[in-house]
Amino acid sequence: MMETKRILIDKNDIRDEDLLEAARILREGGLVAFPTETVYGLGANALDEEAAKKIYAAKGRPSDNPLIAHIASIDQVKPLVKEIPEAGRKLMEAYWPGPLTIIFWKSGIVPYGTTGGLDTVAIRMPSDRIANRMIALAGVPVAAPSANLSGRPSPTTADHVWEDMNGRIEMILDGGPVGIGVESTIVDVTEDVPVVLRPGAITMEMLKDLLGEVKIDPAITGPMRPDMHPKAPGMKYRHYAPKADMVLVELSDETREKLEDKEGAFVKEVEQRIADQAKCPSIRPEDYLLALEVDKLAEEAAGKGLKVGVICTDETRSEYVEDDGLFYAVRSMGIRAKEETIAHNLYRVLREFDDLGVDYIVSEGFSRTQLGQAIMNRLTKAAGHKIVKI
Ligand code: AMP
Ligand code: MG
Repeated sequence: MMETKRILIDKNDIRDEDLLEAARILREGGLVAFPTETVYGLGANALDEEAAKKIYAAKGRPSDNPLIAHIASIDQVKPLVKEIPEAGRKLMEAYWPGPLTIIFWKSGIVPYGTTGGLDTVAIRMPSDRIANRMIALAGVPVAAPSANLSGRPSPTTADHVWEDMNGRIEMILDGGPVGIGVESTIVDVTEDVPVVLRPGAITMEMLKDLLGEVKIDPAITGPMRPDMHPKAPGMKYRHYAPKADMVLVELSDETREKLEDKEGAFVKEVEQRIADQAKCPSIRPEDYLLALEVDKLAEEAAGKGLKVGVICTDETRSEYVEDDGLFYAVRSMGIRAKEETIAHNLYRVLREFDDLGVDYIVSEGFSRTQLGQAIMNRLTKAAGHKIVKI
């Protein structure tokens, strides 16, 4: 065990003197966890193979899972890559600094220890000002995956990092809770048509607007099969996983269609049930249907003696009643109508259920467009693709 230093940094008053030690640790081959706008990262000098190896050891992560090189300015890209294709240039101009990672062919100076043996390198320029200043002071690109133990939810506060990394790394920079809460979007520009390898806050819709044709890696849209070879090796691991078993409840296309006919018999029937039974009379029919099914599955499991956690939203929170005698914990992830609030709280709620020793989680599903795609990607992975459609 080494002693882990924790340094509190005020985002509105970032002083170089507070970051110089972190920069020195990085240059000398040590590990520093730092805030970014997406999740906390666990950084090491990206050009130092031995330093990169320490990241894998600290996380307990398989070493074929490549790291993302974080930079502080655009001129740091050129030395790391073979070429910058047109799509890469457009993406950098539009979304850097920001929550977007771009995959390029790597140059000779990037060690295979950083890229997990691949000939490509993942690069991102974070917008978080603490991250930016720390990387600039270090003077080297900083390789960083999320600062969690492998298999645990990504950390969105310095406390989460502390739980996982205390005693394993030299330093944690505490810049408060992160903004976005889910990892960066990853886009591969090494082929003719750009491919999204991981959805994030830069959405598919935004990418298509900018680039025209964009493909999506099949590992994102469905369960992994043994014959699939995802281009982002991280996709094959049971990532983002809570300790509990988990199931997601989603509306089927058929139900969605029926709900669209606002004057139809189906909607009228649901509205009648809401009038008769719902705790919140203004709840939307689609939200009520989800809450009813989630509550049913959760009650069944709690009745069998399992410790149950329910993930809901502010819109449905009032429909869940915590039963005496049964273990039935309910947490809202945020406001369904504002998906950025859901992304922001997602990993915190999963970690909270871990801490409570929950052994079965039932979660409401979300839209599969815009930011919903990133949210559902993380939730379906956490649930091991167990989805109930109603
Ligand atoms: P994390 O942000 O902690 O999930 O880790 C970085 C993610 O970036 C992993 O899922 C990797 O699989 C992905 N990644 C990093 N470098 C590459 C690369 N060269 N090609 C494809 N995916 C990559
Ligand atoms: Mg990760």
